[in-house]
Amino acid sequence: MPSGKDFTSGNRGSTGKKNANCSFCRKSYREVGPLVEGPSDVYICGECIELCQSILDQERRRRGSSRPLFNKVPTPREIVEQLNSYVIGQTVTKRILAVAVHNHYKRLMLASDTDNDVEVEKSNILMIGPTGCGKTLMARTLARALQVPFAIGDATTLTEAGYVGEDVENLLLKLLHAADFDIEAAQRGILFIDEIDKIGKTSQNVSITRDVSGEGVQQALLKMLEGTVANVPPQGGRKHPEQQYIQMDTTNILFICGGTFVGLEHIIAKRQGRKMIGFGSDGGGPTNAEAQRGALLRQACVDDIIEYGMIPELVGRLPVISSLAPLEEADLVRIMTEPRNSLVRQYQKFFEMEQAHLEFTPEALREIAVIAKAKDTGARGLRSVVEGLMFDVMYELPDQQERGKKYIVTPAVVRGEEKLFAHDGSAAA
Ligand code: ADP
Repeated sequence: MPSGKDFTSGNRGSTGKKNANCSFCRKSYREVGPLVEGPSDVYICGECIELCQSILDQERRRRGSSRPLFNKVPTPREIVEQLNSYVIGQTVTKRILAVAVHNHYKRLMLASDTDNDVEVEKSNILMIGPTGCGKTLMARTLARALQVPFAIGDATTLTEAGYVGEDVENLLLKLLHAADFDIEAAQRGILFIDEIDKIGKTSQNVSITRDVSGEGVQQALLKMLEGTVANVPPQGGRKHPEQQYIQMDTTNILFICGGTFVGLEHIIAKRQGRKMIGFGSDGGGPTNAEAQRGALLRQACVDDIIEYGMIPELVGRLPVISSLAPLEEADLVRIMTEPRNSLVRQYQKFFEMEQAHLEFTPEALREIAVIAKAKDTGARGLRSVVEGLMFDVMYELPDQQERGKKYIVTPAVVRGEEKLFAHDGSAAA
């Protein structure tokens, strides 16, 4: 028993205690069960203890989560440096994101300043770029650098109420999960919504299970992007009337939307009065189709996105538009080697754990990049190519008795003309 405090259970000992009431809610022992007794006839019931605990938890979380956010706002340059450790290329988009996120922080600071009378509007971001060029990676890296909750949702799973699919509030639930159900933190988080182009009005992805126009989903998303108090179903799925909801204010959530917008380049070219084929060939500009596409997408404006099928109000809520270039072979080589958790480093680590050594010749890396590029899935293709190469050795390696072996991946290995075999540590080079 702690000294100075006589914490005894009210239902033990004297029967007189059975008449005691909780000093906080005034309910009797008979109503709420056992009471904890403090000094001077003070009692507390189980319900009040739980309530106190949740108040304390909430307060602790509020302090804990707001401290790292507001002690120091990272400058755009610092944010770009963080992104550089993981993301190759995409310089312009990195800067655009960094400025937007920096301003997002400033906005949060102003929102919490009671003397402030200037309301700064939110700058949600739209990223346009081919698959596998780093859209998700950038959003994810940002969230890690900033230590705010981050979640990824897919717009294609969303449907208008009444159709098979998910409500837009499920995206918020993901953010809430990422924040460990700390609502305060989730309300300042970053939500990345992928495949936003697939809910365009003129989308080709017509399905009988969802509203064909996609407009209903866009309207629902619009509300969320604008800032609303959303009713989030804690179990996910479709909302139904008997359910309990968690109320979540989306005003301070930063939304980053991503999409490939296949075919947008034609809309841009049409607006500019150009034909896609032949564009640039007369002026010595980009000649191949991919470079043409990249150049056109950089000039994407709000009207083009609306013509693509997004409702004007939604585009209006995504004031920052950035287009990402497709990755070139040289970028793919860098992606394999440079980032902190690059593919090559990951495999080298595996080999190290088995006291073996792995090397890729520069020509082999180039060869892998060429094969991956042909798959047209951006940097996503790299992993499957490298995994294919490594599969046999990864199977054998843990059984190897001899230590210090060296494995060298050459272009011939990549092309499948040779097997990846172990050299003697000393002889190989
Ligand atoms: P998407 O643009 O389709 O969202 P992702 O960001 O998910 O593509 O990229 C898929 C994977 O490819 C990432 O996990 C990462 O490993 C790699 N990757 C893509 N782009 C880059 C890049 N610019 N720099 C480094 N890695 C990249």
